[in-house]
Amino acid sequence: MNKKITVLPGDGIGAEVVEATIKVLDKVASLYDHQFEYKFADIGGTAIDKHDNPLPQETVDTCRSSDGVLLGAVGGPKWDNLPGNKRPEKGLLGIRKALNLFANLRPVTGHESMTDSSTLRKEVVDNVDLMIIRELTGGLYFGEPQERREVDGEEAAVDTLQYKKSEIERIVRQGFELAKVRRKKLTSVDKANVLESSRLWRETAIEVAKDYPEVELEHMLVDNAAMQLIRDPKQFDVVVTENMFGDILSDEASMLTGSLGMLPSASIGSEAPGLYEPVHGSAPDIAGEGKANPLATMASAAMMLKYSFGMHNEAASIDTAISSVLTNGHRTGDIAKDGEKILSTNEMTDKVLEALK
Ligand code: NAD
Repeated sequence: MNKKITVLPGDGIGAEVVEATIKVLDKVASLYDHQFEYKFADIGGTAIDKHDNPLPQETVDTCRSSDGVLLGAVGGPKWDNLPGNKRPEKGLLGIRKALNLFANLRPVTGHESMTDSSTLRKEVVDNVDLMIIRELTGGLYFGEPQERREVDGEEAAVDTLQYKKSEIERIVRQGFELAKVRRKKLTSVDKANVLESSRLWRETAIEVAKDYPEVELEHMLVDNAAMQLIRDPKQFDVVVTENMFGDILSDEASMLTGSLGMLPSASIGSEAPGLYEPVHGSAPDIAGEGKANPLATMASAAMMLKYSFGMHNEAASIDTAISSVLTNGHRTGDIAKDGEKILSTNEMTDKVLEALK
């Protein structure tokens, strides 16, 4: 197969982890007889420096004309004091919106050899395998009005939590589709005891469930879900929830595996190409030093192969290579324990390339 990939390295370690991941994609292409054509474009702080805009139109156009988008990370202290609409993060929110990416998928998989680095007990996190699906384009982060106003003579602020039924339906359906090919359990997280938007969410989930009789649907209040994720994460298969609950729960879940440097993500929509990126940021504290852990970006590329290109064996070969590298005790600084040998980004990449079959 021939696939066009837009590469958005972004800022800080973004460029380093993306470069490492392209080497892995190239090896997959040669092993499986595919051709990946890369087009680079600017986003975030780098784009502000070059174009005075965190998301130039040219970047959006390049992304739209490709089959998948691989992103590093955006942001850094250099751009921290710019006004809101000029900040690197606007580039990220902007590209998600421009591509209408409504579902953010974050798998959390505990590698047995790594669970020592979690703050939770080993028996709680060993073999955790769950997927959080967060709605990305609605809810409190986008609802209008979102403003400061005067109430009873003093300053006040308002945000609006709105969901249309169609927005709920498409994300919940995504949850069922994924649960169908996993362990067939979907947990829909809401706050239906308090919020009207959550009551519509729950009603809609129950309606959509009729199309998926093979999947067990459970409802969980968000406060309970936050507790259960830490108490017994193995009870979860696929979790689907609205934007802000998902933002918080997915960061909480990410700590089950111990390191930000290990977590991939995918943002997908119905027509445009998906966007694949590590969960971590641009790590300005280690940028340019060759210390970044590239595994989360490599695992994000594996998600691109699976969800955007339908290349399931190829994706599995990357995941297996990452697992075997970890099982063999290879570690970058962020996941090494005291006394363990620390590999550079390039050395870790070479280990993955060696393990890739
Ligand atoms: P961060 O994820 O960049 O870093 C947090 C800590 O984890 C740092 O100590 C860093 O060195 C370490 N770390 C992160 N990824 C690593 C990796 N792959 N290998 C080794 N160590 C790694 O979060 P932060 O420090 O809060 O934010 C830094 C910048 O990144 C900010 O400008 C922030 O806005 C931005 N950010 C961007 C994204 C994104 O692009 N999706 C996400 C989060 C933060």
